[in-house]
Amino acid sequence: MKLLLHTCCAPCSVYCIKTLRAEKIEPTLYWYNPNIHPYTEYKARRNCLVEYAKTKKVELILEDAYGLDEFCKNVADKITTRCRDYCYPKRLRQVFQYAKEHGFDTVSTTLLYSIYQQHDYIAELMDKLAEEFGVAFLYRDFREGWQEGQDEARAAGLYMQKYCGCVFSEEESMIGREIGRKMLAKGVSPTNANVRSIIEAEKIDGLVVPGALKKSLSREA
Ligand code: SF4
Repeated sequence: MKLLLHTCCAPCSVYCIKTLRAEKIEPTLYWYNPNIHPYTEYKARRNCLVEYAKTKKVELILEDAYGLDEFCKNVADKITTRCRDYCYPKRLRQVFQYAKEHGFDTVSTTLLYSIYQQHDYIAELMDKLAEEFGVAFLYRDFREGWQEGQDEARAAGLYMQKYCGCVFSEEESMIGREIGRKMLAKGVSPTNANVRSIIEAEKIDGLVVPGALKKSLSREA
């Protein structure tokens, strides 16, 4: 098997590389993430992966494409559905395209490691792309090793990002944390249910809650 592993960042790759190698599968990492903003963050994640790949002696292909302008133009009218309607297909289609043109017979992605990504949707999309491009999709539920991978990434001193990638996810993540801090200060546990009820009651001092954060909380209801 010649596997091209789309890799979103070094920390998410730790467990994936480890378990694939345990199965005697040697992945080639493929960096293509024009969804990561701003540029300083893009460089921090990219450079961390470059160094990590060297330490693990794993091949890494860099498809450098910082894309704030293009990303924003394409999601402007679909901010709350941007992951499914633009970001996942944009990145994963490119991975299959590259695999097909460069002799890889199988594709997978470290997005299947994150407990914060839309796992089932990604797997379905990968299945469809595999059929379209005639390149196999290797499914693994890498989430099983979430804590192990995170612990190893921290121990290795890797750069640990605080949000998914795009500027909108940065806003959601930071405002979500601020809501949590305010709730804790008032002695309220910041569970999703509690956050949801506080947002619904519009009792968040001075914070404008992003639409996508409201949507994702209502999805979990
Ligand atoms: S939240 Fe993450 S997956 Fe969704 S659009 Fe932003 S970068 Fe892409």
